[in-house]
Amino acid sequence: MNTNSETSINRRPTFKVGGKVGGMVWLLILICVLPVHANQHANPKVNSVVCRPDLPATHRHEIVERLREITGWRDLHFDKHGSLHSGGAHSGGSAMARELLAAAISGEQLLILEDASGRPDVAFCRVVEGRWIKDEASRPPAHIVLIDFADFTRVTGDRDALAAFNVGWGVLHEISHVVHDSLDPKHPGEVGNCEHLINRMRRECDLAERAEYFFTFYPGAQRSEFKTRYVRLAFKQPRSTTGKQRRLWLMWDATAVGGL
Ligand SMILES: [Zn+2]
Repeated sequence: MNTNSETSINRRPTFKVGGKVGGMVWLLILICVLPVHANQHANPKVNSVVCRPDLPATHRHEIVERLREITGWRDLHFDKHGSLHSGGAHSGGSAMARELLAAAISGEQLLILEDASGRPDVAFCRVVEGRWIKDEASRPPAHIVLIDFADFTRVTGDRDALAAFNVGWGVLHEISHVVHDSLDPKHPGEVGNCEHLINRMRRECDLAERAEYFFTFYPGAQRSEFKTRYVRLAFKQPRSTTGKQRRLWLMWDATAVGGL
């Protein structure tokens, strides 16, 4: 194991937020005002988590399936307008994830889920502030959750870590940034407030927890003769027999995923 390479930290995080991280200014994205959003916000019983109309059905399905697994809400679904509904009763899953998602759905801030597959500026997920192009003063604050579905298909590694790192966990991470105004860490070796909460949800689901927020380069991956740049991300899980933590890894080619 080459420790020099291991300490070569890439500062761009995964599940990235384009927000107040490290004092950065929120990125602004102009969003087209979707009629469904405007109408819904005329209704006091607003549902504040919606997907864009052009989000493909397969991606909606993936979001729904992953969020059902995490929350235990078996009837969670998008309605025909693209609004996300919990469906009510739950079986298993994470109570904290349900609490977060329920707060987002009933919250004042509009969260719009958008397909960002293949975008080089999105590594897995990020959230950016939206800006209404019309009647901004009368509209709720809007945030765009950008999801690069293709990135998640490029991840390999330990099965138990893969279960703790998918579209559902990415969406919840970004939603937590908005709902709790939580931050990602600035320094290697930390997970940050946002992932700390997400880890508690993983624990409720009996899944591995993320041990690091930042990924690190694979030993030798930065050598110039390679076109690929393999990176890895650490997870941890207690062994059932001894209680000691075992290390799990995910890896991907950062030239394909982004974040370099
Ligand atoms: Zn984040």
